[in-house]
Parts: sequence; C-alpha cells; structure tokens
Amino acid sequence: MKRRDFIAGIGSGAALAACTPVEQQSTESTERFSWRMCTTWLPNFPGLGTGVNTLARYINELSAGRMQVQVYGAGELIPAFEVFDAVSQGSVEMGHGAAYYWRGKSEATQFFACIPFGMNAHEMNAWLYYGGGLELWREVYGRFNLYPFPAGNTGVQMGGWFNKPINSIADLRGLKMRIPGIGGEVLRRAGGTPVNLPLSEIFTALQTGSIDATEWVGPYNDLALGLNNAAQYYYYPGWQEPGPTLECMINLDAWNSLPEDLQAIVRIACQATNMDMISEFMARNANSLEQIRASGTDVRAFPNEVLAELKRLTFEVVEELAAEDPVVDKVWTSYRDFMQHARGWQLISEQAILNTTSL
Ligand code: CA
Repeated sequence: MKRRDFIAGIGSGAALAACTPVEQQSTESTERFSWRMCTTWLPNFPGLGTGVNTLARYINELSAGRMQVQVYGAGELIPAFEVFDAVSQGSVEMGHGAAYYWRGKSEATQFFACIPFGMNAHEMNAWLYYGGGLELWREVYGRFNLYPFPAGNTGVQMGGWFNKPINSIADLRGLKMRIPGIGGEVLRRAGGTPVNLPLSEIFTALQTGSIDATEWVGPYNDLALGLNNAAQYYYYPGWQEPGPTLECMINLDAWNSLPEDLQAIVRIACQATNMDMISEFMARNANSLEQIRASGTDVRAFPNEVLAELKRLTFEVVEELAAEDPVVDKVWTSYRDFMQHARGWQLISEQAILNTTSL
C-alpha cells in the first residue's frame, strides 16, 4: 500500500473522522544510494564479521532498498588498518572497526572502544548515549571528516591463554604475550614483552611456544581458533578489554548527502546492531565456555594481587597520556567521571544481583 493510500485509509475511518488528515510531504526523497562499507574484520568472521553483515542488511531492509550497503572484509578492498583513512578521505563511504585501532591518529580514540579496567558494555552504552560520550566521539572524529556510531560490542573478554599458571605479578616477568594497545604497555611495565600478531599466526605461535600467552576475544571466538588446543590455562577476567564498543564510521560529506529519513535509518540500524551483537556474544560465549571446560582446560581467575598491580599500571599509563594531550584529557575526564558515577549504582544493582548466584 502506498503511503498516500494508507493515510487516506486512516482518514476515512469513522473513528478517526474528526482527525485532521496528514499532508503528504512532497519533499520525500526517492534518490537511491549505493555505499561501500570496509571493515577491519575477516569476511563473515563469527560475531564481528557476521554482525557487520547484519548492519548492512538492516539498512537495506529498513530503507526498502533505497540504500544498499555492500560489505568488504579486511583485505577485500583495502587492508584492515587502512579503513580509517579510506573513510576519512571518502574512498569508501562507511567503515566498521574498533576505535582503539586508531590511537596512532589520536590517543583519545581508544576511549570510545575501551581501556583496560574501564567501563563494560552496559556502562559504555550509557556513557555514549546518555552521558555525553557520543558527542565527544563526534568532536574527536569530526577533525578527520568522520561521523561515528556505536555499532557492536563483544562484552567483557577473557584475560587470555597461558602456558603456565600466573600466581603472582612476578610470573608476568619475561612473559611474551600477544596483547595490543594500552594492555600491552601495561604488560611491558609489569616486566613482560607484548607482541602483536595477525590472527592467522596466533594459534601456531602459542602452540609452538614462540609466545607464552595470548589474549584474543572470549570463549566463542577463542574456541573457533582452537586455542584450547594450544595452551592449558584460560584466565579471567579480561582486564584489558572489559567491553569494547565497535564502531560504524561514516565519511562526513557522505553522511551530509543523505536525506533525513535515511540518516534516521542508519542511526537506528547501528543501534539495533549494537544490541544484536552483544546479545549474540552473551549466548554463544556461554555455550562455548562449557565446551572449553569439557575439553580439559584449566579456567582460572587472576589473583587479586595481580589485578591490583595491572590496574595501578593502567591508570599510570592513562594519566600520562592525558597529561600530554588536552584532547585525551577532555575525553578521559568525561569517561572517568561517568564511570565513577555508574559504578556507585552498578555495585548495588547488577553486581548485587550477580552476587546472589552463589547463595
Ligand atoms: Ca582482545
């Protein structure tokens, strides 16, 4: 049914006879858009790549085909770590990745994905949507001609796979571990050696002992990589990534070229994907963890003493970054203040309920 007929149909109903008929807006655009979205994920990679496919499908469906988005995985059109520049320069209209990949552009970007011992997914969404975080994100990305949206989250990750037990901070000395970003810098300050490896090399490096440990994502993705066959100990919690927000970024000129209704569709599709992805990770991580336990893996918690020292080192690193750059300082101040407020409530709500599990 065409919109005009639908509105006319409502107007002729007896119960609505007194209502003023809505005028058809003559400005409604029929222009079609065909966009490309490059991602930092392997094509169809479980949870991440498939989540991006869902985002593209939502946009195509909600716009009834007026806006088509073609997804390109890492390396299909451009390499993973060139997505930011490609979208910024307008060679493609959209990108999907994680803001901490772009810390070479600005150290402030990583706060919009996650920092070690920072906010979890629930808290990140609250900060971004209701705590001024998204406005700050748009301010930081606007300088690169980009318009960002939250569009996914893995939830809290695992601390990683280790080939020896970690009983004290001394056990991290000399440890060679695949761990990127601020987490890697923290490991270095604790006496370890952080390394970065492409996904394709992680399993073999751990199995052959060329690294002693690795973090990746969580049970769902880690089981898919077979990491339970490469190391015996699986540690939690993922202090280095408590709930990274994933991003959809759009070239600002391309964004401004969209009519308002398509802008609304993109915004809502990103928000729906944000919810969809965290839900999928929750469900599949739970299943995969049971399989990992059943395979004989020793699932352990980091000792509190280890976590406390890693946390101290984390905020030492973050405060140094903030002291060096006023943009980082502005974002970190907002992030830190929001987290402190949120934790006051979290402790007596979500955490208090989770604590009843063991009663
Ligand atoms: Ca990770």
